[in-house]
Amino acid sequence: MISPGQELPIGPQVVHVGHVCIGGPQKTLMCGPCAVESEDQVEKTAAFLSQVGIPIMRGGAFKSRTSPRAFQGLGREGLELLVKAARRHGLLTVSEIMDPRDLGFFSDRVDMLQIGARNMQNLALLREVGRSGKPVLLKRGFMSTVEELLLAAEYVLREGNQEVVLCERGIRTFEPLTRNTLDLACVALVKRMKPLPIIVDLSHSLGRTDIMVPMAKAALACGCDGLMIEVHPNPVKALSDGKQSLSFQGLANLLNDIEPMLRHVEGNSP
Ligand code: PEP
Ligand code: MN
Repeated sequence: MISPGQELPIGPQVVHVGHVCIGGPQKTLMCGPCAVESEDQVEKTAAFLSQVGIPIMRGGAFKSRTSPRAFQGLGREGLELLVKAARRHGLLTVSEIMDPRDLGFFSDRVDMLQIGARNMQNLALLREVGRSGKPVLLKRGFMSTVEELLLAAEYVLREGNQEVVLCERGIRTFEPLTRNTLDLACVALVKRMKPLPIIVDLSHSLGRTDIMVPMAKAALACGCDGLMIEVHPNPVKALSDGKQSLSFQGLANLLNDIEPMLRHVEGNSP
């Protein structure tokens, strides 16, 4: 059992993705569609994100869907579309890698490798991304404890890669009104133990958009280092996770509401 201050997988407090510092005074926002669907979709999204000052664009090309019948993503072609659109608008990229055999392809293109909730304990994948030297966004498995998340991160750190950011994305409970239960105690605990920066994925935690503003404020109040939010030009038509994706106007409104909390005030940490 990891106890506070002991045997923690201590990594850096600030992780650098391109010019962005995750874990510093500025909160980091990562937004974009659940899945890359078309050139038009990612182009419109990238243009909007750069307009509102979001530095990192997300978008799944290899989708870790629960059902094999669901849209599985556009694969390598999708990753190319994401990266081209993001670069055109000066954005950095994060995208989920599921297979270590794709590591070379990802490393040449994206700025941050995402390990999805379903792969949090895929040890071969963790070791490989640990050897890649690329920043890693490690999502908490929906059936994993905080300790298991930290130990999974240690697999990456032990390969010499210190650039790891944790992501709380909700855990499975008996509550059906949200897709998962956003465990903000995880954020508060990680910020207290300070092993690594941690962000909150509001979309996969909540599965809905109507309570995103108060939960974004709550996550920021707990000291999270950033937020991940799915955004789609037309959420109703999204091929995956439309219900938890904000429209452009929805994101603009949310940013407006949380703006005062996006900069951590020195000497006023939670
Ligand atoms: C995602 O972020 O695209 C995703 C599939 O999330 P998770 O792995 O948290 O379910
Ligand atoms: Mn999604």
